[in-house]
Amino acid sequence: MELEFRLKAAFKTSADPTTAREAIENFINNDAVALLSKGAPKGEEAKIENWEIGSDRIKFTITSGRYVRAHDAMIRLRRPLAAKLGKQFHIGIRGIEVDDFTISMESEKDLGSLKIPHVSSMEYTDGKLILHLDIGESEMENRVPDRILTLMEDKIREKSYGAKGEHWDLLWQSEKKEIIFDKDPTQEMMRLGWLKRGPSRGQWIHGPQSTKLFRTFEKIVLEELLEPLGYREMIFPKLIPWEVWKRSGHAKGVYPEIYYVCPPKTRDPEYWEEVADYYKVTHEVPTKLIKEKIGEPIGGLCYAQCPPFWMFMQGETIPTDEFPIKVFDRSGTSHRYESGGIHGMERVDEFHRIEIVWLGNKQQTIEAANELHERYMHIFNEILELEWRKAWVTPWFMAQEGLEGIAEEREAGTTDYEAPLPYRGEDGEWLEFQNVSINGNKYPSGFNVKSQSGEELWSGCSGVGLERWTSVFLAQKGLNPENWPEEFRKRIGEMPEGISFL
Ligand code: ATP
Ligand code: ZN
Ligand code: MG
Repeated sequence: MELEFRLKAAFKTSADPTTAREAIENFINNDAVALLSKGAPKGEEAKIENWEIGSDRIKFTITSGRYVRAHDAMIRLRRPLAAKLGKQFHIGIRGIEVDDFTISMESEKDLGSLKIPHVSSMEYTDGKLILHLDIGESEMENRVPDRILTLMEDKIREKSYGAKGEHWDLLWQSEKKEIIFDKDPTQEMMRLGWLKRGPSRGQWIHGPQSTKLFRTFEKIVLEELLEPLGYREMIFPKLIPWEVWKRSGHAKGVYPEIYYVCPPKTRDPEYWEEVADYYKVTHEVPTKLIKEKIGEPIGGLCYAQCPPFWMFMQGETIPTDEFPIKVFDRSGTSHRYESGGIHGMERVDEFHRIEIVWLGNKQQTIEAANELHERYMHIFNEILELEWRKAWVTPWFMAQEGLEGIAEEREAGTTDYEAPLPYRGEDGEWLEFQNVSINGNKYPSGFNVKSQSGEELWSGCSGVGLERWTSVFLAQKGLNPENWPEEFRKRIGEMPEGISFL
């Protein structure tokens, strides 16, 4: 891809640099040429197209390609030039002032108007996208232009080649099962009074019967998997501040699905009095007024469940013999603003999940994932007797950052567990009901966790979605306990009576 950076900028000087003209010219023709070609293939060096001396500055126009980028070139020149001017002429360099900075890049398509920080305008002509940057010295030093380039290249790729969508490779598939039930289980559960829609979007209130199912699934996971494999229970927070999502990568892309959390600007009762009074008089909650009285979002409700665990480990060095560390959390709900339209229990905005997390060296991490796969296989085949399959997919953390494709090494990545829902018909979409992921060194590195041995740490996680397990199980087996597999009936015992209404 053809790419050009063009920077017009000046070094501001402490005195008129005219007296140093000859030395500057000499610097530009010799030292600068070497500085601007270092690390670039031949023909790809950054170039000083133009220079000019003003009464309090030395102005440059620098062009470059991808290798030594114009802004890096400017920064490279600063110190050696300052040394020369200082020693011989007692002239100091006071800073860099940017007059104009453009990046032009090839693009098959116009990207339309985008709001990108430090990009003041953008135009598209002749297959070229030209970005005008509004940056200063500190942005140059903080690599802002490079981040803008990467962002735009991603957008161009997406626009030109289209979203590749989720990668999907079948790994294992159970035998087909005879269909003994073909209704939508959520509808049936509602009909029998097992649950009701909750007051909020995508939310359910579980009656004693569906709660019993959830608790039985949890018991199975505990007894057949977590306890024998030596997992320890923890309680992870459920309100997630930005700091966590910056480290986990979610800050790159999860915005459309977050339930945001805003604290009050103050807890002074007087400040809130008018809100309470408004309600008392009108019996309406004045949400616009509330909006004025709350602060900016500090984060959101739990989305992926494992990220806040890593704040427990953050910055720590862990004795080598502690590994593999195996923990799980089932202490609260996860929340996602899902797509509109009517969904049943299989796609909710508030859901329940057991999140299993492990870490160790690479081999221990892969081994722990394999143990889980084996136990899950046992549960789905021998206890729940499901029809299901496993597929190798775009890792969840990439999907949640808005990335596509597949982890580079085949050792890290996500395995989705999917099952058919007979009520959706022969060709109906299968439902992902859980996954097992090997996340590589992403989390230990994002949260700066080290092993005493110095060995690279890897981690994995697996989310058991109780709504999804229930959806799959009931869709395939129906709601009559008499038709449920023997091993499951042993574990659930008696179904509790529901609450009856007149
Ligand atoms: P989908 O493609 O079905 O939206 P996802 O890729 O968003 O799923 P992950 O982000 O991998 O799902 O979440 C891990 C697990 O959390 C899922 O396997 C599922 O068990 C559960 N889960 C995710 N979203 C929901 C939801 N809206 N309702 C119920 N369970 C969910
Ligand atoms: Zn996780
Ligand atoms: Mg989803």
